[in-house]
Amino acid sequence: MSDCLFCKIVAKEVQADVVYETDRTLAFRDINPQAPTHVLVIPKEHHANAAALAEADDGLADDVLKAAHAVAVQEGVAEGGYRVVFNTGPGAGQTVFHVHAHVLGGRGLGWPPG
Ligand code: 5GP
Ligand code: ZN
Repeated sequence: MSDCLFCKIVAKEVQADVVYETDRTLAFRDINPQAPTHVLVIPKEHHANAAALAEADDGLADDVLKAAHAVAVQEGVAEGGYRVVFNTGPGAGQTVFHVHAHVLGGRGLGWPPG
């Protein structure tokens, strides 16, 4: 999608601090971090949100979850605890409509989230 910010990051048309990459996923630091570790994990292929990713039916959602876990291990937050969040739709605060998992950790995370 030519007008999608995260597709532009995949295409390296927009700079990002990439921390992890596989053939089908990319992970980079959030530009406005909400925790000491705040990494966004995306499929390189464009899907608007988690619902569309779930319907992709080709194992891509599995790849994104595995990449999120790999990022947590790499960032050193897997042992202490971390959170994986897909804001899905405007009512949940989604602002970028290329599906992304937020991987948050490195501080205490309250529940329920705001
Ligand atoms: P959402 O609100 O859609 O769940 O999350 C979008 C996230 O993308 C936000 O946390 C925001 O800080 C992040 N973001 C927006 N623009 C950019 C950007 O250009 N680069 C990076 N690395 N993150 C961005
Ligand atoms: Zn996109």
